[in-house]
Amino acid sequence: MSTFWASTRNMALIVQKYGGTSVGSIDHIRAVAEKIIQTREQGHEVVVVVSAMAGETDRLVQLAHALSRMPNPREFDVLLSTGEQVTIALLSLALLDRGCPARSYTGAQVHIRTDSAHNKARILGIVDSKIRMDLSMGKVVVVAGFQGTDEMGNITTLGRGGSDTTAVALAAALKADECQIYTDIDGVYTADPKVVADACRMSQVTIEEMLEMASNGAKVMQSRAVEFAGKYNVPVRVLSTFEEGAGTLITVDEQNMQHPVVSGVAFNRDEAKLVIQGVPDSPGVAASVLKPLSEAHIEVDMIVQTVAKEGTTDLAFNVHKRDFKLAFSILENISEDLGAQCIIKDEHVAKLSLVGVGMRSHAGIASQMFQTLGREGINIQLISTSEIKISVIIDEKCLELGVRALHDAFQLGTVEQETVESCSS
Ligand code: ASP
Ligand code: MG
Repeated sequence: MSTFWASTRNMALIVQKYGGTSVGSIDHIRAVAEKIIQTREQGHEVVVVVSAMAGETDRLVQLAHALSRMPNPREFDVLLSTGEQVTIALLSLALLDRGCPARSYTGAQVHIRTDSAHNKARILGIVDSKIRMDLSMGKVVVVAGFQGTDEMGNITTLGRGGSDTTAVALAAALKADECQIYTDIDGVYTADPKVVADACRMSQVTIEEMLEMASNGAKVMQSRAVEFAGKYNVPVRVLSTFEEGAGTLITVDEQNMQHPVVSGVAFNRDEAKLVIQGVPDSPGVAASVLKPLSEAHIEVDMIVQTVAKEGTTDLAFNVHKRDFKLAFSILENISEDLGAQCIIKDEHVAKLSLVGVGMRSHAGIASQMFQTLGREGINIQLISTSEIKISVIIDEKCLELGVRALHDAFQLGTVEQETVESCSS
């Protein structure tokens, strides 16, 4: 096998992360072991992070819910973390069986320290001495993704998809040359190829764009992992476990990239909208609405406050569907104290976003986006923008139509750009 890597560098430290489908069966685990051995034979040091076998974390979630409507967060994490313990052991067994020295570690064993926010903990630090010692003895180190321990030694998990964050955090701690995220698609696309037939794989994307895409629904990587990569300057490459190819490099170095104005379309179906209507237009009101939500670890997105009329104003925002019930009940509790008129909820919305660093220097993208949606008869409920992104909340029924219309309107499937290498169609 000649990886992109082998042709550019001699000896490197590489962190490879294999997702659930990549380790979904014994045969797949054997194939992953083979890939790792090949990387090692090229002279590289390899640290591997694995997810649980495909479907396993979901199965564990279901088991917990069969016993308890709101599983105790601490015990829930003890349960969820077991999926990855299975795969580190199996992969290490496969490597050893092939004569490759390997050693598995749970998050706790390599001191992946997190805060105590069970089910969505953040990594605070990693003690890398054990890993370095093993590497210096020529071993492949296999670490369980998605887990750590808090100050008290309680097992924590990092939120769904959290193995990506483990990999990037390990790469940052070890100052690895590259963090390779192996998955079932061969890179980052201009839109989800399941929705847009002529979506294109990008050969490179900036961290900023990737962060907007991931936090706006692109399922390639956990957005916290991308955040981490940006903060610690870790070069990340998304690759397919099953096909050869250079994948997509997520890079901090924008200099050698030629930017299209719009790089991609992202979407998220897991959105729910809440509007608290008729709250007094006085200082501190927005804080009183948002504080109890943040105390409950609910992430609030796209906050829109309307212009005040007759001394009152409306606050609209969206939350993840998972947090919707809790957010609604928190709002109901505070609404009387705040003097709000009513709360409107809508679980059937989705978020559609256009992303591109080129937007910084181009005017008129928003109006072209809104015109395109208008032409398709898609009503926009909320809008939010950043320098390199425009997001709208729309009816979830119109989502796929909207994604395709924008992908077409901005010619993402056909433009010949340096950042776009090959088209799938
Ligand atoms: N196994 C965990 C999940 O399914 C973590 C991961 O795969 O990244 O979310
Ligand atoms: Mg994943």
